[in-house]
Amino acid sequence: MRIGLGFDVHRLVEGRPCVLGGVRLEHPAGPSGHSDGDAVLHAVTDAVLGGAGLDDIGTLFPDTDPEWAGADSADFLRAAVERARERGLAVTSVDVVIATEGPRIQPARAAMRASLAELLGLDPDRVNVKGKTLEGLGALAGGAGVAVQAVCLLEE
Ligand SMILES: [Zn+2]
Repeated sequence: MRIGLGFDVHRLVEGRPCVLGGVRLEHPAGPSGHSDGDAVLHAVTDAVLGGAGLDDIGTLFPDTDPEWAGADSADFLRAAVERARERGLAVTSVDVVIATEGPRIQPARAAMRASLAELLGLDPDRVNVKGKTLEGLGALAGGAGVAVQAVCLLEE
């Protein structure tokens, strides 16, 4: 067994679509970024790559590479799962913490679990998503951004 850890942070910008975990949330601001800025998918992708000993999302899918320009973040996660599989590793569970005072996570948890489960080829009960506020502390307070931690278990 192997464990991978991923972390990502994005600013929340007025007028951007708010997509997290592949789910569109009703919120006036969304994550900045050259892609859809889906910090949940980026953190999970990094957890999968980390556990598989495959560098990180920025190294494997550089934004300077035309192949990945304007890519859907789901494509990063699908590609990471495929590269892990090529190494004989299967993702068997994922747990995610989303820290933000922007969009409310609770109403979207089930949809995010289902979305991640589909991308990872897992049952939804092997994927968990939790929302946390920041107690008004730090640079992300007041909905200025979103930070995501993800852990991933892989089995040979
Ligand atoms: Zn990101």
